[in-house]
Amino acid sequence: MTTQTKTTLFAALAVSMLFVSTSMASDPHAAADAAPAAKAKPAPTAAASSSDDDMAKALLNKINKGSGDIVIRTGDLPAGTQVAETKALDANPKTAKAAGKPAEKDAHHDVHWSYMDGPGGPENWGDLSKANLACSKGKTQSPININIDNAVKVDLPALEFAYRQSPLSIVDNGHTIMVNYGEGSNLMVDGRQFRLVQFHFHKPSEEAINGERMDMVVHLVHQHHDGGLAVVGVLMTTKRPAAPRKSWWGDDSKPQDNPLIQTLWNNVPLVKERVESPGVMINVNQLLPEEKTYFTYMGSLTTPPCSENVLWFVMKNPILVSEEQVQNFGRIYPMNARPLQPKGDRLVKEAKLLQ
Ligand SMILES: [Zn+2]
Repeated sequence: MTTQTKTTLFAALAVSMLFVSTSMASDPHAAADAAPAAKAKPAPTAAASSSDDDMAKALLNKINKGSGDIVIRTGDLPAGTQVAETKALDANPKTAKAAGKPAEKDAHHDVHWSYMDGPGGPENWGDLSKANLACSKGKTQSPININIDNAVKVDLPALEFAYRQSPLSIVDNGHTIMVNYGEGSNLMVDGRQFRLVQFHFHKPSEEAINGERMDMVVHLVHQHHDGGLAVVGVLMTTKRPAAPRKSWWGDDSKPQDNPLIQTLWNNVPLVKERVESPGVMINVNQLLPEEKTYFTYMGSLTTPPCSENVLWFVMKNPILVSEEQVQNFGRIYPMNARPLQPKGDRLVKEAKLLQ
């Protein structure tokens, strides 16, 4: 695969994760290139339950080994376990058509998904397209509530964020504000390299900790070259920590406006679905908390097609943002968080970081 093709695939993936139908029209290049990729790979036929079984087996193996090892790698799964990429690419109705799939008799064909109750609401995402089946039938969906008392505390290496600057490329895709990130920024997880592809925001935070959602969350979406996805969620709060918790997330002499968020909001395009590149450099390190303890679990994309086998990391410590920054996002998207999903029998691990 050439770098060019790879880049296009990454771009198509980033787009398809959050766009479902009409929005791809704004990027015909990506749509055109995504089609052969989807054709080349067989459409996933494994029912969601079989990947759950695979995941459960892999987890059991890990536990039985008692290695103290936390991450379920793609390599831990039986050969043939589907990664999210194909599903994500396939989710686009145009892609599916181009791949010669039979036309679906779908009453909801023209209904676009949304966060509001109704025909396109979260309860109906799974019915909007066959590609979205995991949204209703999946057993390892995101987001979830993380109960700290139930998390398994284990020794884990720190996540290695090898992030560098990127020219800003920003789009309001109709569901969120999304930033496409330039090449060369990676997350290293247990020796595996995941490239940062894009990040985007939800209000309130989709993840809940001990039943509470925070003001917002940023999702940093990474992809391994095998197609596997790893998403890092960084909670965002307007509330300075009370004194005893101060050491958790640092120095309260700092100004509360997050400088990167400010740059992003300043450059939000006036027109939806138009990707703008205003000639500004950004550094995503400004969205990471100082203290990098995290929770990890196996979940899914939180937007259609809700593809599973996504490795989630939720940072325990939030970053501080100003009320005005949250309000400004709320003027564009007052509520863009999927309802909490059943945790089922999944493990959530909390990292006690090894130094
Ligand atoms: Zn998200």
